[in-house]
Amino acid sequence: MAYDDTNIFARILRGEIPANTIYEDDYALAFHDINPQAPVHVLVIPKGPYQSMEDFTQSAPADLIAGFFRAVGHVARSLDLAKDGYRILANHGPNSHQEVPHLHIHIFGGRPLGPMLV
Ligand code: C5P
Repeated sequence: MAYDDTNIFARILRGEIPANTIYEDDYALAFHDINPQAPVHVLVIPKGPYQSMEDFTQSAPADLIAGFFRAVGHVARSLDLAKDGYRILANHGPNSHQEVPHLHIHIFGGRPLGPMLV
């Protein structure tokens, strides 16, 4: 399916609507989730028109893939999550209940998260 550049994260990337941004570089933007599911719940999105891990890992340039995942690690460390631990998650497609069709990695932390519930 074609990338829909009217999605809310595309609009955040273009600066059309605000986000509570905590990190930005050439490859990624990170901001607090508007509806946090844990004491720390941050989203990291790549700077490019990618819907999910499917198209990102198939068609993004290698420097963007590397820079994006480096940014995810950097953000987790900057939130002081590395010592106690954190969880990352990315949804793809209807079975996952992906709501926003722009790739986003969720970072959850700040409390014991319990086992994965799927
Ligand atoms: O993975 P999924 O697509 O379901 O997650 C979308 C996430 O984007 C939700 O956690 C939601 O709270 C968040 N969101 C946000 N800011 C918006 C719209 C959605 O942080 N303006």
